[in-house]
Amino acid sequence: MSSSRVLVLNSGSSSVKYQLLDMSDGSRLAVGLVERIGEESSRLKHTPLSTGETRGFTAAIPDHDAALKAVAAELAKDGLGLDSPELVAIGHRVVHGGKHFTEPTVIDDTVLAEIERLIPVAPLHNPANLTGIRTARALRPDLPQVAVFDTAFHTTMPESAARYAIDVKTADEHRIRRYGFHGTSHAYVSRATAELLGKAPEEVNVIVLHLGNGASASAVRGGKCVDTSMGLTPLEGLVMGTRSGDMDPAVIFHLMRVGGMSADEIDTLLNKKSGLIGLCGDNDMREIRRRIDEGDEEAQLAFDIYIHRLKKYIGAYYAVLGRVDAIAFTAGVGENAAPVREAAVAGLEELGLVVDGELNAVRSDAPRLISPEYARVAVAVVPTDEELEIATQTYALVKAS
Ligand code: AMP
Repeated sequence: MSSSRVLVLNSGSSSVKYQLLDMSDGSRLAVGLVERIGEESSRLKHTPLSTGETRGFTAAIPDHDAALKAVAAELAKDGLGLDSPELVAIGHRVVHGGKHFTEPTVIDDTVLAEIERLIPVAPLHNPANLTGIRTARALRPDLPQVAVFDTAFHTTMPESAARYAIDVKTADEHRIRRYGFHGTSHAYVSRATAELLGKAPEEVNVIVLHLGNGASASAVRGGKCVDTSMGLTPLEGLVMGTRSGDMDPAVIFHLMRVGGMSADEIDTLLNKKSGLIGLCGDNDMREIRRRIDEGDEEAQLAFDIYIHRLKKYIGAYYAVLGRVDAIAFTAGVGENAAPVREAAVAGLEELGLVVDGELNAVRSDAPRLISPEYARVAVAVVPTDEELEIATQTYALVKAS
């Protein structure tokens, strides 16, 4: 029996998403999710891919330790228990790896301490990721556990793109720079786009547009990230489901001085009540498109602002790269919303960007081109797979060590 199973854990503050993969062929053995950890009505949903049937329960799951034990029990029912010798590693998604972590890293006490040191720049995410890691280590202390960082892919950005133009001493003291996020997705999609073009990643320049509820763009030259739209935190850049993205930082002083708002209130406003939901009350692109079809002007304006920002980033990254071989759309909106893809490149024919209406309308889970054959720049839809990427990086590291 081959030992090639990797468990991928994505631990949030009150949730754990997991996938068990067989890395001999990259297939899924089980996927699932525990939600509302710490509440009376926590929920576990588990799907073994052997049957494809989802099962689960609703009951109080007090903490991450109990959640992971419940997951282990579900996996064991399908003969996929965490004590199986076939399980070779656990891969953890870690949101912030700062400047330090440029690669997936086998977790030891020093690595844990460094992830903890980064909490001030990722107060929402790193504590939850750490809890997941500690729990998994307690359960299987003998098993290699690997941290795969959302920021790692962006550590190749040159200083000219990573630095903010603020006082250097202040920036360094508080570790203020552009880190970027969604790196696992940008890495996976840029590589898969090169593959779709039949080329090696080193040969192509790609603009990746990861458009989910959170959204970010990246400029990837020869497989390496040279710029990305998220910064110190995931707030910068594109218009998102609930985040504002770019704006004049003086808006914050204005809201403090004139609006009487506190830093925490403004944080909530810009991260949770802005973007599409702030503009029109909906953050789901399906609902926004439905409203537009009914002639809703508020939804139309929200869509137009979203597209305007997206176009600005396409233009900016075109200039940063100089030559672009492909633009790749990914994540919930990018993979599913044909009108967003069409509008984002409309009028950019001079840049070699054209979308074929018929190809764009095709619904599929496969990576595909939506530009006509004659187009100078390929436009692609490439479904992202962050779990597979985390498992691939984890497995490669464990095999090599
Ligand atoms: P993600 O964060 O990648 O899971 O993306 C979630 C977002 O994708 C949702 O909030 C929707 O806005 C969008 N989305 C998902 N399915 C569709 C669809 N069929 N058409 C348009 N937008 C979609």
